[in-house]
Amino acid sequence: MNKFGSEKLNQQVLQTGLCIGCGACIDLCPYFRSHRGRTAQLFPCNREEGRCFAHCPKVEVDADTLCRFLFAAPYNGDPLGIHRSIHISRAGDRLKKQPFQAGGTVTALAYYALRTKRIRGAILTGREGLLPVPRLATRPAAVFGSSLSKYAAAPTLSALNRAIAAGYDNLGIVATPCQAAAVAQMRMNPLDRPSFQDPAALVIGLFCTWALDFRQFEAFLAARLPLRDIVKVDIPPPPAAVLEVYLRDGKKEFPLDEIRPLVPAGCGYCIDMTAEFADVSVGVLEGRPDRNTLIVRTARGEKIVREAEKDGYLIREDMPAENRAHLQWAAANKKQRGVRRCLETGRLNGEEGAACLRLKEEIIRQIMENTPEVPTSPHPVGEERQKSGHSRQVKEASCLI
Ligand SMILES: Cc1cc2nc3c(=O)[nH]c(=O)nc-3n(C[C@H](O)[C@H](O)[C@H](O)COP(=O)(O)OP(=O)(O)OC[C@H]3O[C@@H](n4cnc5c(N)ncnc54)[C@H](O)[C@@H]3O)c2cc1C
Ligand code: SF4
Ligand code: SF4
Repeated sequence: MNKFGSEKLNQQVLQTGLCIGCGACIDLCPYFRSHRGRTAQLFPCNREEGRCFAHCPKVEVDADTLCRFLFAAPYNGDPLGIHRSIHISRAGDRLKKQPFQAGGTVTALAYYALRTKRIRGAILTGREGLLPVPRLATRPAAVFGSSLSKYAAAPTLSALNRAIAAGYDNLGIVATPCQAAAVAQMRMNPLDRPSFQDPAALVIGLFCTWALDFRQFEAFLAARLPLRDIVKVDIPPPPAAVLEVYLRDGKKEFPLDEIRPLVPAGCGYCIDMTAEFADVSVGVLEGRPDRNTLIVRTARGEKIVREAEKDGYLIREDMPAENRAHLQWAAANKKQRGVRRCLETGRLNGEEGAACLRLKEEIIRQIMENTPEVPTSPHPVGEERQKSGHSRQVKEASCLI
């Protein structure tokens, strides 16, 4: 593993605009800070090796090393990552009805893990106004306060760093794919610290096609609606191709074409749609807004899902083949786009300390050569929609599925 310090991080990630503001480098030392969605280094530091660089998900991420560490298997380029099973799911009936983003699977699993003391705390993302804010929940009921998706990139992992510094272990972490990659790098103890203890007892990944730059997103909405009236933001699956903003007294929609310019550059280098480095990953489900897609990846992920289901906190169904095919297609598309961007900018493999991503040559070929076929959408697609270019819209939306 390549080891460098904050100077290199600054040069290769912050100054190049690759930073996604995940928070992994924040609250490890007094020097890095997040302010309204942006990460900045306040003072220079001359350490030659730092956790800031070692944990950052935008520099020197070696997918094969991460997979071998987490799954004892090589990175195989599967669009959905290494996994054991895929399901449809929702929060079980024992959980009080709450405002969830979709089926509430994430909140249900975090709640159950805390309630059964599998974890001592859950690292979540709440919000203050529109600003996503890192949170540590130590009581089961506290997880409800952080439900719902905040579509701006969030410094969530600063709460993990603070919790570890405060002596917490056995933590549950709800993380976007880049955050889950940072947590996996953290768990590998890259600086070989003798006192190190793996802090993560459960990583719940979120699907993510892209996030938004908080400051630009806030300015965009502020010019169009009263921010204080926002109760929920959603990006329904294709073919909708809109961002929905639910207000106290109604709803406004914005075409995704107007929203995409607010996506930070760092997301363009991302090859992971389904949080491949998590124990379980959760996304929305096309055509059923009150359900989730649930991917189970590890033995401990499987155990908690099975037990939560048995105790009435989670409900699972089989995933139809057409939903699965569409998910696979969308994730393959994102992988190909991310690899292409890394190749075009010289950030795939190459110079030590400058690569965004490291992949084996045969995996790069496999990702780039297997152009995914547009599958039949799991939605009932009417003739009208086909005539009006539905399949092109699905392809371009690829995807906030
Ligand atoms: C930036 C972003 C992009 C997404 N893109 C897709 C996509 O392309 N396709 C798809 O299927 N699903 C996507 N999702 C996931 C989806 O919106 C839901 O989070 C997921 O389906 C879980 O639903 P739920 O009902 O179980 O969530 P809930 O039970 O409501 O829980 C939501 C959880 O998300 C966490 N969270 C909220 N905002 C953030 C954030 N900014 N960063 C980190 N954690 C956060 C909260 O801590 C909470 O635990 C995205 C989510 C985010 C945050
Ligand atoms: S991507 Fe995360 S770890 Fe990397 S510089 Fe930005 S905030 Fe820090
Ligand atoms: S697209 Fe990738 S880099 Fe951007 S927020 Fe999502 S997981 Fe992170």
